Amino acid sequence: MTLYNSLTRQKEEFTPASDTVLLYTCGPTVYNYLHIGNLRTYIFEDLLKRTLLANDMTVNHVMNITDVGHLVGDGDTGDDKLEKAASDGGANVWELAKKYTDAFQSDFARLNVLPPNTYTKATDYIKQQIALVNTLEEKGHTYTTEDGVYFDTATFPAYGALLSKEHLDGLQEGARVDSGDKRNPTDFALWKFSPEDAQRQMEWESPWGVGFPGWHAECSAMAMAELGNTIDIHCGGIDHIPVHHTNEIAQSEAATGELFSRFWCHGEFLVIDNARMGKSMGNFLTLQSLIDKGYSPAVYRYFLLQTHYRKQLNFSWDAMDAAKAGLTNLVARLQKVEAGVVNDELLSEIRDALNDDLNAPQALALVWKAIGKSGDVSPDVVATILAADNWMLGLNLEELITLPSITDDAPDEIQALAQKRKVARENKDWEAADALRNQINDAGWNVLDGPDGHTLNKL
Ligand code: AMP
Ligand code: ZN
Repeated sequence: MTLYNSLTRQKEEFTPASDTVLLYTCGPTVYNYLHIGNLRTYIFEDLLKRTLLANDMTVNHVMNITDVGHLVGDGDTGDDKLEKAASDGGANVWELAKKYTDAFQSDFARLNVLPPNTYTKATDYIKQQIALVNTLEEKGHTYTTEDGVYFDTATFPAYGALLSKEHLDGLQEGARVDSGDKRNPTDFALWKFSPEDAQRQMEWESPWGVGFPGWHAECSAMAMAELGNTIDIHCGGIDHIPVHHTNEIAQSEAATGELFSRFWCHGEFLVIDNARMGKSMGNFLTLQSLIDKGYSPAVYRYFLLQTHYRKQLNFSWDAMDAAKAGLTNLVARLQKVEAGVVNDELLSEIRDALNDDLNAPQALALVWKAIGKSGDVSPDVVATILAADNWMLGLNLEELITLPSITDDAPDEIQALAQKRKVARENKDWEAADALRNQINDAGWNVLDGPDGHTLNKL
């Protein structure tokens, strides 16, 4: 299996260092719902993990939940995202974190994302984060300013392993970065002090003063606590390369003197009209908003699989319609035939595609080639595609083909529910309308509201 390693900037043969793949994926900051851009990254990581498993590897996967310390500003400035969201909404920050944790886990389940072996919550690892900062202090890598304890990047000559020389030079020049009291523009906070003029809901005692951990320190401390000093693969979206992952490497390797991660894998962005989808960009779509428009989670997953994870992907409703038509067609073709026995050769071919740096578009092309343009699909091909999907693609085809014939019109009882929902909406009884939509969804149908009324479909 080959993977593109951001550390060496090339595709490399991947084998784990021991009998278990130690995998750490940076998880969400739980101050809001995930947008479908975030979900693109998590689905790429899921495809990676499924492919490792399909190669008979054992995987120990840790994903963190950032519930403290991720600041609004990139340069260790601005409010803590969770504290800000809580105070804006007059909420308890712990309850807020719980609400958005439940929400993202439910998105994962709906998208058929395999859960990690362990979720680590940053607030459960404060002791380990303080210990990491302590070690760095003992080794002479830190200094203290008025607002926190900082990592001195000048003390770590290998700083910037993930970056090109030009990129690093640009960061170090830092002309436009507000460095505050930092000694170097690339230095970053390990521990921040609670502000004097505002009361934080989350704060802890530390040898340096009451405060909270820096976001980068959290991931290093949790990864090493759960997986050891050197892990096999560390993942995230490409925006994590210049700051978050660069800093994780610096503080982990400065603390242990060992390589932190052998492979670094990064997923490209989902964009919309050429702008990155972001929580603060006003172009924020959630999984639920797709479902409300009549596109099931499987359609979104199918849409993503059509593009390689290292290519930027533009979101559009037309592309979602095309993905929906493609998946509907696939399910319709599969459900006409009883599955036979798995064809090992075809299964290996599909796996080989994914073993080539997770080439999902190629895997889908092989699926379509085996199905053919028209006519009955061979029973063995059906069995093989279901197996490939169970292991690797994760569309949950096995369940989708149990839906009553996917291209038929909705039966009377579903039409009746949709009609009742229409009346509820006209009466602005949103609660009843939602309950009816759930009932329709539970029966395997989606209701799609358009300018000419609603339509019903299965995907
Ligand atoms: P955050 O909660 O901001 O740390 O983001 C969670 C994950 O989503 C990170 O791995 C980000 O790199 C990734 N991410 C953020 N925006 C996008 C996007 N537009 N497309 C793909 N991944 C993204
Ligand atoms: Zn992280």
